[in-house]
Amino acid sequence: MNDNQKQQIRHLRQLGLGYTKIAGTIGLSVNTVKSYCQRNNLGAIPVGVCDYCGAGLRHTPGAKKRRFCSDKCRSRWWATHPVYADAGRRLGGRV
Ligand SMILES: [Zn+2]
Repeated sequence: MNDNQKQQIRHLRQLGLGYTKIAGTIGLSVNTVKSYCQRNNLGAIPVGVCDYCGAGLRHTPGAKKRRFCSDKCRSRWWATHPVYADAGRRLGGRV
């Protein structure tokens, strides 16, 4: 692994990519990426993706897990999933 690859791993990790995706992007094995991240304290970033646009989400420790990267995506998602919105209203908004 060269310095350029290390830098790329850090960068992609910060964007919220998983080990498999990073390994595929850079052309390293998943194990190499995983052990590098764990050694360099990059392993514990809890990540997810926006349900609407697929952008990487950063999780703030202690905060409720987010499903969307922004309010814009949240309202767009609900606008394109009216069935779930109806069900949510019937259940008192607890969906
Ligand atoms: Zn989004």
